[in-house]
Amino acid sequence: MSSIPKTQKAFVLTKTGDSLDVLKYQQDYPVPTDLSPHDILIKNKYSGVNYIENYFRTGIYPVEKPTVLGREATGVIVAKGEQIQDFNIGDSVAYLSTRTFAQYTKYNINENSQILKLSENGSSKVSDDDLKLYAASLIQGLTALTFSERAYKVKSGDYVLVYAAAGGVGLLLNQLIRAKGAHPIAIASTDEKLKLASENGAEFLIKSKIDGTDDDKVVEQVLKFTNGEGVAAVFDSLGKNSFDISMKALKRLGTFVSFGNATGVVPPISINVLSPKNITLLRPVVFHYIYTRKEFEQYTAKLFDLIRSGKLNILIYKTYPLSEYKVADQELLDRKTVGKLVLKIPE
Ligand code: NDP
Repeated sequence: MSSIPKTQKAFVLTKTGDSLDVLKYQQDYPVPTDLSPHDILIKNKYSGVNYIENYFRTGIYPVEKPTVLGREATGVIVAKGEQIQDFNIGDSVAYLSTRTFAQYTKYNINENSQILKLSENGSSKVSDDDLKLYAASLIQGLTALTFSERAYKVKSGDYVLVYAAAGGVGLLLNQLIRAKGAHPIAIASTDEKLKLASENGAEFLIKSKIDGTDDDKVVEQVLKFTNGEGVAAVFDSLGKNSFDISMKALKRLGTFVSFGNATGVVPPISINVLSPKNITLLRPVVFHYIYTRKEFEQYTAKLFDLIRSGKLNILIYKTYPLSEYKVADQELLDRKTVGKLVLKIPE
């Protein structure tokens, strides 16, 4: 491990806070060189940006601090513990893990590891574009795929409502839903975003900021598109502001998949609100659909088949240097982005 430095550049969450000021770009964060026999050390190349980091920053989801942010990356193995047999130094990998907004990440190999080998020992070199694409695809791709297959199995002919329809997860949901012969109804805040959603499968378009000013109008449009019946399922990543709209937009026996908090956490509800239409309500997390090695392999194989065959398009909005993570996150929070944001990790 002689060529591995003792310190590294990393984006660190120091304390909970509403402002991005609580995030520090550290130049001298310790490299985790204390590998157990089952650990590998990965030198990261690209890491995907996800909205979830804001929930850790603001305290919606608890996390120990200080901590390095980041949940997915690609990179090359540069060191390994003595019990590691299936991976070698030089292998390129794509993986899900905390602490990926850093030059080096320590990763434990166990029976449920969420890691894919992209090339053996540098043999068939993985292109820079592919390293970026894999880092851009994992979390949002697996979310859209597992939610549209497991949280609610979308069927041909279904009308399905998708919020933030030009966002990272949203663009993929539109494509997957349309590919099943169903009718995605896209909600987004601007005409440009709706155009992009429509280019990615959305069949019906609703412009709204979902800020409480036009809730009735949004519901009216959903009912118009569905001949007064309502949608079979809602994929709702906005949380608080959209909850009532989603409930009203669903048809009898509809499924409400609430999976994000972009406008705040849904306040406690009475379970009885589900009765008038026998609504099924889920609050899923992608990681619990890909928890076992078998599940992870099954869904990543399917995801990358769809991507390689051109059936699922991953739109990368912009690639930022790691040092500019706060700029990227601010653009995400300001609703200026579409598709996926990626960080390039410095050498
Ligand atoms: P997006 O690219 O979708 O970005 C967020 C989008 O949400 C914005 O572009 C904006 O689109 C919309 N939005 C609406 N209201 C607000 C607001 N008040 N502030 C900011 N954005 C707002 O992000 P991701 O694809 O990374 O994530 C989408 C959602 O899915 C997030 O809530 C995320 O936490 C959740 N998620 C949940 C997972 C799970 O396992 N449960 C896994 C992955 C993601 P517009 O301007 O068109 O309204």
